[in-house]
Amino acid sequence: MTTRPEGTQGVFPSIMTESFADDSTKPFWDAAAEGRLVATKCTNCGTFRLPPKPFCFNCQHRDIEWVELPGTGTIYSFTVVRHPLSPMLMPAVPYAAGIIELDGTQGAGARMICNIVDVDVDAVKIGDKVEIVWEHVNPGMSVPRFRPVTS
Ligand SMILES: [Zn+2]
Repeated sequence: MTTRPEGTQGVFPSIMTESFADDSTKPFWDAAAEGRLVATKCTNCGTFRLPPKPFCFNCQHRDIEWVELPGTGTIYSFTVVRHPLSPMLMPAVPYAAGIIELDGTQGAGARMICNIVDVDVDAVKIGDKVEIVWEHVNPGMSVPRFRPVTS
């Protein structure tokens, strides 16, 4: 877990201070507060639903199980935001936002859109390996970001 000061370059501000979780999302936010990544998986066909949805988009089955994922993945696609779309983003630009294909789910539908932090935005590439870093927002609330895997 990490806590960053407001206005850190490369970091999209944590505008969410509460999860406002309902029954379908509470397991995700509870795990996030513990620094764990979980996702729902269809018990019929194995397709992941992230974020949770009432029906599987592959087989229309309703039942799910919550699965813990390793929190690592690969950059599937990304963009670098250089122009702030609002004044609050002035200190954040340039920052990278990417679609992360999560390890343990390849071909099964679990990708996350996340801020990619602790990176030279001009060096980000599709296919780069990343790991999750949880940013502590307040007690009981953490938000995910990804950073390059350093070995
Ligand atoms: Zn299914």
